[in-house]
Parts: sequence; structure tokens; C-alpha cells
Amino acid sequence: MIALATGLVSLNSRFLWAESGFDLGLKGQELLAQGKYDQAIEILQAGVKLEPDNEWLWGLLGRAYFQKKELRKSLDSFRQVLRLNPEDTYSRMMVDIISQKPLPPKIEPIKPLTPLEKKALEEEKQILDRLQVENTLGYRIQRVVLDPGHGGFDSGAVGLKGLQEKEVNLDLVKRTSQILAQMDKDLKVFFTRTEDYFVPLSARTTTANQYSADLFVSFHVNANENRKPRGMETYFCSERASSKEAARVAEFENSVLKLEKNELIQKGYVNIEEILFLFERKRYWEAGGEVASLIQNNLKNRLPLKNRGVHSANFYVLRRAKMPSILLEMGFISNPEEEKLLAQSDFRHKLALSIASSIVSLKKSRI
Ligand SMILES: [Zn+2]
Repeated sequence: MIALATGLVSLNSRFLWAESGFDLGLKGQELLAQGKYDQAIEILQAGVKLEPDNEWLWGLLGRAYFQKKELRKSLDSFRQVLRLNPEDTYSRMMVDIISQKPLPPKIEPIKPLTPLEKKALEEEKQILDRLQVENTLGYRIQRVVLDPGHGGFDSGAVGLKGLQEKEVNLDLVKRTSQILAQMDKDLKVFFTRTEDYFVPLSARTTTANQYSADLFVSFHVNANENRKPRGMETYFCSERASSKEAARVAEFENSVLKLEKNELIQKGYVNIEEILFLFERKRYWEAGGEVASLIQNNLKNRLPLKNRGVHSANFYVLRRAKMPSILLEMGFISNPEEEKLLAQSDFRHKLALSIASSIVSLKKSRI
């Protein structure tokens, strides 16, 4: 070792071979990849002590702590990254996943339910209570993951007037969750993102699996080159698309995969867990089909949107979910009338109210 950084003098003598935080980071990264988390933590701690402003080192340390399930320390490390670089979307996602902080009220406060809406929901609850049935899968909805499609550089579909799908999806998820909290205090709601940043498709289902959710609902808005199509449809996952149109929608929603880095599936990487899951997923997909029908049926009676029914296709964001999962296409942003509606606060409120009550009504359904 010829040139020792002066800061290293105070470090543990074991790390004297390292000339910089970069060297320590490389070693830490290697240990992380080998699953040697304790050693990785030790070396990365030395790294951040030497270079406290090195966001890369803090990120690696956050990952190492996360693997060790030391969530508090992992959270602190990822927050450190965000302090140094607020644009770091990976750390933002990890902070969200670990802390699942409640959604900050953004844009505008959500309206409380009107007395009439409250009364209608109360009546519906009473009817559902009377109809209460045991569900066939022995399966109860207590934990829901809401997934606002797209985000960050992936804006999703964009309307003629410039309305972006990613913004509509996130706002509708926020509204739906707040209404759900008012309607059902026992229901736990989690999110795959809470702000405008990019989340890979695979990370969305991983979040749902991690939280052992009973239901995964992905929020989207449809688009077509033709400006005429309009209305709302609900999808569930299947190997083959139920129609050409369903295949087109799935192709659009899957298209961001091409932009995702480190995508295991692109590398042709398949692990044993994936293979075992192949047998399990049929059950989830079938249940997803039933949930999709119940939701769409419930929505069609409430929504001021044309009912386009239930369809299925191979959606990447749904296919690895270990729970029934559905994807909502809430109108067409490419249709000028629906773009206008989707931009309106009142319409969004109505839409969120319909979705929330459909989810709550599922709790009492036979799935
Ligand atoms: Zn979408």
C-alpha cells in the first residue's frame, strides 16, 4: 500500500489495504453478493465512516442491513442516501417498502364522505352482512396492496391535453386508500409507490408478496391510437390473452420491461422457487378471475363509465403475485371526453369511491 488516505489511519487496521471508500464499497458489494452480510456490514460501516457523503456506500449498507432484516438501520441508511441524493429512486422505493409510511395528503385534501354516501355504504354493509358466506379458499381479505401503475420516467399513457397516466393512477390510489380507511378500519392497505418515481414491475409484486397481501390491485388508465374507444375494464392474469385487444393492453403495460435493468427474466434466469411457483399460480390466477368479475360487476352499477367487462392476459406485474391480483383500466386517456373526466377532482372521487366499496364488498364475497 503506497498511498494511504489519511482518513484511514483512524480505521480498523484490518481495512488498511483499502485506499478509499470506493475500494471498501467494491469489497462490500462482493460480500453482499456472496450472502456474507455481517462482513459486508462491517466493511461498509468503515466505508461510510471514511466517506460520509458517499451515497453509493450508504445504499450498499442499506441493502446489507435489509438482508439481515435489521430494518431500522436499513431505513436509516437509505434515508441517508436520499439526503445526499433525493433523486435516487431505488432508495426511495426501499424507504417506502420498509416504512410503509401513511400516504402524505398531497394535491388536495380528500373530501370526507357525504352523509348520503355514508348512508348508502351503511346500507350496503348491512345487506352484505346478511348475505355473508364462507369463502371457498378459506381466504379473507385483510391486507391489500394498491399499485399505482408507472411513475418517474415511465409516464404511462398520455392524453391529447397532456394528462399523464402515472399521475392519475397515483392520485386514484391515494383517494381509494383514504376512503378504504374510512370504510373499514380493519383493512390494512400497502402501496408500491407513494410519489412520482420509477418502480420496476418485478418490485411491485415483490412488495405485495413481502407483505403477504390477500389482494393486489394495479391501477391503470387505458389508451388507444384510435380516439373513440372508452370505458372501464378489469383484467386478471392468464397465460394467453382472452382477445386481441387484451393482448394489446398487456403488451403496452409490459413494455417498460424493456427499459428495466437487471431484469432476471430478460437474462433467462429462472430459479427453483419460480418453477415451484408455476404450479401454485394457477390457483391465484383463477381466484384473480373471480375477483375481477366481482369488482367489475360492482363497478359497472356505480360508475359513469361504459362497462367493457372482464378480460385476461399475461401481465408481467400480475404473474408473480402470490395472491389473487387484478389490473384496472379506468377509462381511456386517449378519448378526449374521458381525458377531461379523468382530470376532474369530482370524477376521481367517484371513481375511487366505487373502487374502494368494491374492495370492501369483496370481504364478504365467496372467492
Ligand atoms: Zn398503464
